[in-house]
Amino acid sequence: MKVAIIGAGLGGLLAGAALSKEHDVDVYERLDIYGGRFTNLPYKGFQLTTGALHMIPHGPTGPLAQLLADVGADVKIVKCSPDGSIMNKDGQQISFYDFRELLSPAAQAKIPLLMAGLLIQKKGTVADMVWNDPEWLALSDSCCGWALSTLSRDTPAAEASAIIKHVIGGGPGKYNTPGIPMGGCKAVVDSLVKVIEARGGRIHLGSKVDKVIVEGGVAKGVSINGEKHDADIVISNIGHKLTSDLYDWRYMKPQYAAALQKVRPSAGIKICLAAEEPLVGHPGVLFTPYTQRVNGMNEVTHVDPSLAPEGMHLTMTHQAMRSKDVQEEIKLGLQDIKRMFPNKKYSVLLVQCYRDDWPVNRIASGLDMGNLTPVKGLYVVGDGAKGKGYIEVEGVAAGVMNLLDILKK
Ligand code: FAD
Repeated sequence: MKVAIIGAGLGGLLAGAALSKEHDVDVYERLDIYGGRFTNLPYKGFQLTTGALHMIPHGPTGPLAQLLADVGADVKIVKCSPDGSIMNKDGQQISFYDFRELLSPAAQAKIPLLMAGLLIQKKGTVADMVWNDPEWLALSDSCCGWALSTLSRDTPAAEASAIIKHVIGGGPGKYNTPGIPMGGCKAVVDSLVKVIEARGGRIHLGSKVDKVIVEGGVAKGVSINGEKHDADIVISNIGHKLTSDLYDWRYMKPQYAAALQKVRPSAGIKICLAAEEPLVGHPGVLFTPYTQRVNGMNEVTHVDPSLAPEGMHLTMTHQAMRSKDVQEEIKLGLQDIKRMFPNKKYSVLLVQCYRDDWPVNRIASGLDMGNLTPVKGLYVVGDGAKGKGYIEVEGVAAGVMNLLDILKK
């Protein structure tokens, strides 16, 4: 079977690597680099990124690690230890698992109710799930902002509940907690390209797909600069909305069109810091519930020192975008960092803003549309098609696995 893939982001490359085992794969990427929002940007001796914070949410035991192993990609993912901490109101860190210490007795008393709600609540948002209680909202906003780039009020409770079930899926002491790929994001996409090329597949850089060719409701290939490239199936890595712009609207189905109208990306800001001394002090996530904007941060150089110049640390903060005023959002994020680390030696390397067609997530959590499109033989992968309850690149991998199952049928 001849497979055309639109986009060489993580989703396109995972699908390409898996399918190249038995099929003839061509991956078309509009940019001159592959990896999309999951590769490194070398800058002043640091390995910054085009998107992700060099972190794999479920580490060496999650869907991405499993799919990488299945397709034969050689990536070492190191589990973060400790997996997380929280900064309290005094700027001190406590273990993530001691979060009760941060709460008043009244808020602590609600813990059993919250646990029950996580299991049964299907309606409403995370803000509803925590009764809009300000103490709980501070914690849930930090977690949702870090992991999903949405606030509690915009995150469906059912989705949060499904995500938590996947995190604790390994059982007590075996939680699917984060890991760092050695070499950062680029090591992951490099390994996938190696697999695709070793099996005879091709990655075409600088090749923007301008059209999906559809005949009689069935995808027959793609067009690049007006030139037709035949295929038996087409897999798009650019989300449902952008994909739908590439074929004729007469193939649109009303239900699908209605779902498209609801889709929105999640937006956020990443601030990359060059730290002369550790700011976080460990490789896991530092959640920051008591800031104006920053939801959390990590310091990946505790696992892979090669991501920064010798003796330095790469520290990255992340914040969900709360308003459209980007300059104000950045200003508040930078103020947070100053307040959290008043006496530490660090400098700001780069501030990166993610929204619109280069977002944090192409479809905000809970609005996922799956792999199918109204056109037969045209499928979507990537963070526009993750499936329920999977975050970030774990969702990208879970969505690709789901597509592989569909194609087998
Ligand atoms: P993309 O990476 O967007 O790939 C799509 C590709 O298609 C791009 O290369 C694009 O150039 C190409 N393309 C677009 N249009 C066309 C066209 N017409 N023709 C050909 N090519 C085209 N996830 C984690 O797991 N851990 C993290 O630490 C993490 N942190 C994040 C922090 C930030 C600030 C951001 C922005 C994201 C973060 N994520 C993280 C999310 C993760 O980076 C993304 O979910 C993932 O990289 C998305 O991959 P993708 O393949 O779906 O899409």
